[in-house]
Amino acid sequence: MQDKSVPEEFDIVIVGRGPVGATLANLLGLCGVRTLVLEREARTYHLPRAVHFDDECMRVFQTIGLADAILPHVILSPGMLFLDADGRMLLDWSRPQTLTPMGWNLSYRFHQPDLQNVLISGLARWPHVTLRNRCDVFALDRDEHGVHVRYEDLSNGKLSEVRAGYVVGCDGARSLVRRLIGSGMDDLGFHERWLVIDVLLKRDRDDLGDYSIQHCDPRRPATYVRGTGTRRRWEITVLPDEDSQGIAQPAKVWELLSRWITPDDAEIERAAVYTFHSVIAQQWRNGRLLLAGDSAHQTPPFLGQGMCAGIRDAANLAWKLGAIIRNGAAPDTLDTYQSERQPHVREFIELAIRLGGVINTKAIGAGLGAGEARENAPVKLEVKKPLLGPGLALDELPLAGHLAPQFTFSDGSRSDDHAGYSHVLLVESVAALPSPLTLSQAGIKILTGDDAEDIGRWLREHGITAALVRPDRYVRGTARNHTELERLIAAVIPSTHVPSAA
Ligand SMILES: Cc1cc2nc3c(=O)[nH]c(=O)nc-3n(C[C@H](O)[C@H](O)[C@H](O)COP(=O)(O)OP(=O)(O)OC[C@H]3O[C@@H](n4cnc5c(N)ncnc54)[C@H](O)[C@@H]3O)c2cc1C
Repeated sequence: MQDKSVPEEFDIVIVGRGPVGATLANLLGLCGVRTLVLEREARTYHLPRAVHFDDECMRVFQTIGLADAILPHVILSPGMLFLDADGRMLLDWSRPQTLTPMGWNLSYRFHQPDLQNVLISGLARWPHVTLRNRCDVFALDRDEHGVHVRYEDLSNGKLSEVRAGYVVGCDGARSLVRRLIGSGMDDLGFHERWLVIDVLLKRDRDDLGDYSIQHCDPRRPATYVRGTGTRRRWEITVLPDEDSQGIAQPAKVWELLSRWITPDDAEIERAAVYTFHSVIAQQWRNGRLLLAGDSAHQTPPFLGQGMCAGIRDAANLAWKLGAIIRNGAAPDTLDTYQSERQPHVREFIELAIRLGGVINTKAIGAGLGAGEARENAPVKLEVKKPLLGPGLALDELPLAGHLAPQFTFSDGSRSDDHAGYSHVLLVESVAALPSPLTLSQAGIKILTGDDAEDIGRWLREHGITAALVRPDRYVRGTARNHTELERLIAAVIPSTHVPSAA
């Protein structure tokens, strides 16, 4: 029985079980790390926020074994079209309906509470992960051995304290952990009020279409998004002289929606004004305190990347924490978390701001990395994923810091499922390896061209003989010859092993 005078001990305390905290807790569950999640609210926030996530997020959900549970809650998105005030197409951002190299589709639509519920249910699989709802964290006191986390159980007013090796603030935009870290925010300059209206259709309105539409009308820019089921969303700019409360009143909302739908078609689920920000925390870590998700960065939603960025944070951080706690990796490995993630998220936020400029028709197509413009045809938009910033990647080598593809085995199974939550070395054949035993003792899986033909093809295409892929599926380093391979292996052993929960 727990001695009440001695605080309970955890390796990690996560503050907040939004999508980012819940994903991180599932990943730490895979590592076998003793984790406590403290969440202020009793239940998942029931109103919709994020409506889109990408192939890389789905790959993280595959890693935590929840992709199959999530699939019934998503639909594929055909993409987004940008129309001018007269309905002419300015930009065509269609998404391919085929699988990407990640092994998933590029764009999924979903209802955020559905996703969060799956992520939270998934926590029950991990015996060493504990979730406590209605627990409001109010103080973090650090000493050289750890952090005292103090919280109030809001169901009975009881104050409690636990000890943690590390605390991760997944506590959203108004993060307490960020304030206790003492981090300010870099302001990237975008702050706009938008009225977000979610409706539930009462009858078929197939004519609204499946594409998201950006109405680039300088008088009143607006966005339409098809949600899952009967959900449809409009996001409408609030003009400078308009009052945030007044514009969200039902009569005004229906007036604004009247060019698309009427009360005969739908009921309003929620209408609220959000101010979209573009900010990045200056310091994501202070010793044993870390930030992930909206606590570390916020973006205008035009690329649908806010939550996705937080899921990437969780993926980057979890295996590093696992390696430190379970396998004695050096704590300064955590310095690479911000250095890798911050430039990546900054690039996405800057692109979202430029996209916002297009929607506000300030700069049609400018600087969007758009594909080729054809005469009398809309510009095709293609968005390239940013690379990781400097960190663990052995970056003088090709492909370091890129996401590795996911390969399909001859029996139809997928390489990530074979790799598990480990480093994996991709090689043409085991015969090419100097020390397969040392690798497997260090927890590094080996996948070869015999497992999946595409592995060999991919290595040859990039002029490499081997690639070392991290548990978050980013390439840590590659080798073009035997000497480079030995160097690659020497650089990662023995700190690579992510312990399994078994
Ligand atoms: C209108 C809109 C549209 C969006 N569209 C998209 C999109 O299409 N795609 C996308 O990727 N993103 C989108 N986003 C962004 C996305 O919703 C957020 O990025 C995401 O919810 C952030 O997740 P999080 O877990 O970091 O924080 P949150 O979801 O904010 O969760 C934080 C949690 O921490 C808890 N908490 C806070 N303080 C404490 C404390 N002291 N103690 C205990 N618990 C605490 C809170 O109760 C909460 O549950 C959109 C956002 C909005 C508003």
